[in-house]
Amino acid sequence: MNKTNLHILFACSELTPWVKTGGLADVCGSLPQALKQAGIDVRIILPGYKSVLDKVPPPEFVSLLKLPLGTVTICRSKIDDIDVLLVNHDAFTNRAGNPYMSDTDRPWPDNAFRFALFSQAVCEIAKPSGNSDWQADIVHCNDWQTGLVPALLSQHANAPATVFTIHNLAYQGNITIAEYNRLHLPEELLIQDGLEFWGQASFIKGGIAYADRINTVSPTYAEEITSKEFGCGMEGLLLHRRRILSGILNGIDLQTWDPQTDPHIATNYSANRLELKNENKLDLQKQLNLTADPDTVLFGVISRLAVQKGIDLIINAIEQLHDQNFQLALLGSGDSALQEQLKVLSDAFPERIATIFGFDEKLSHKIEAGADVFLMPSRYEPCGLNQMYSHRYGTLPLVNRVGGLADTVVDYTGDATSNTKDANGFVIDSADAELLSRGMLKAIACFDDKSTWLQLQQNAMMADYSWAESASHYIRMYEDIAA
Ligand code: ADP
Repeated sequence: MNKTNLHILFACSELTPWVKTGGLADVCGSLPQALKQAGIDVRIILPGYKSVLDKVPPPEFVSLLKLPLGTVTICRSKIDDIDVLLVNHDAFTNRAGNPYMSDTDRPWPDNAFRFALFSQAVCEIAKPSGNSDWQADIVHCNDWQTGLVPALLSQHANAPATVFTIHNLAYQGNITIAEYNRLHLPEELLIQDGLEFWGQASFIKGGIAYADRINTVSPTYAEEITSKEFGCGMEGLLLHRRRILSGILNGIDLQTWDPQTDPHIATNYSANRLELKNENKLDLQKQLNLTADPDTVLFGVISRLAVQKGIDLIINAIEQLHDQNFQLALLGSGDSALQEQLKVLSDAFPERIATIFGFDEKLSHKIEAGADVFLMPSRYEPCGLNQMYSHRYGTLPLVNRVGGLADTVVDYTGDATSNTKDANGFVIDSADAELLSRGMLKAIACFDDKSTWLQLQQNAMMADYSWAESASHYIRMYEDIAA
């Protein structure tokens, strides 16, 4: 089968521009578009969250499905010219806010029910049926919320093949056996080689154990997750399935993240007009009440506030460097203890450290454009998007050498073997506050060497992160399965 007649059902739990909690949404918003442009017939399927239904024009009714866990209606909407099937049920359509969490940052208590129901709907739509005008050849599932799909489809003859993409292995959708039984999910799947996971049932393990192909969102993360350090308990199974496991680096949305046209930033600029980037720095400093000073290095952070992201390391490193001349603009949401510590820092140094808590798309663009260095000392990072956005904006990332960060950022050595022609940022070798503070000092010193800095910025801005490149790898994987 060649790509022009491949039909892909793309199942996901978030989708830019409609519903986003992190990078998963951006990938799901971009990859299907790139597949479509490459000639693949792709349809997306997404829960019909209230926040989505409030945003889109009334979707067209498609069908009513009676599933083991309840009855859902399927409606059709569109993003550009891609069909998006919305799975509507009270558990999605009558709940405002975040798709997974309550306002108090706790997972919704019925998440297992919600995503089991969603997975049943995906399977029902994917299964061959005589009266459908469209038949999926492959169901492409993403993260634990769709992990049951490959497992459930494995019980059906003639079911389409499945791809399972791991965007973050640490979020697993694990539930007690009692809860599994309450959901009346198939007993035969609850085996050691199936969904059973250390005395629990694991949704993500459904994807890992049953999919025809597994991939992660960077080559290095694909390697890392077969080790004890990064495997989150799944390393044995992943090693066992290594033959069908690969890593495909995410692309980024080059239109949304383009300093030449970005409507959110004060002044548009390009690699040839990098002096204009300074206007964005001054604008950001003004907006955040930082001292307006082009010569002070401004570090930027846009992140979930989570241990994964090394926010504690940033706090610690800043405490070590408090007598140095630098500024920090941090935008984040999440862990309240981290927020508290960050607030103490910004209260102590209001003219140098600005912390903004919440989710703010526009400000995230302003930080990418206005910062000099983007801090991302993640303990693990499946791919990471902000280091690639940073490259595009001539903002040099300072990262830990893990996952997609290792695959995209080339450290400026700054020594006699100087690699000025290739370097596009700064890399530390482990998630450690001392190393991070040294990395920050190195960046501050490099910033004073204007010609080197400009060269590194230009290297960064030349990187090609187009989705077309990533999509071509996915298409090869689909063709491989279909063959
Ligand atoms: P993850 O998915 O692990 O959170 P990624 O780097 O893959 O990390 O993607 C995070 C995405 O979410 C990026 O597009 C980033 O700009 C965005 N983001 C994270 N936190 C915020 C925030 N507080 N406000 C605006 N955008 C944010």
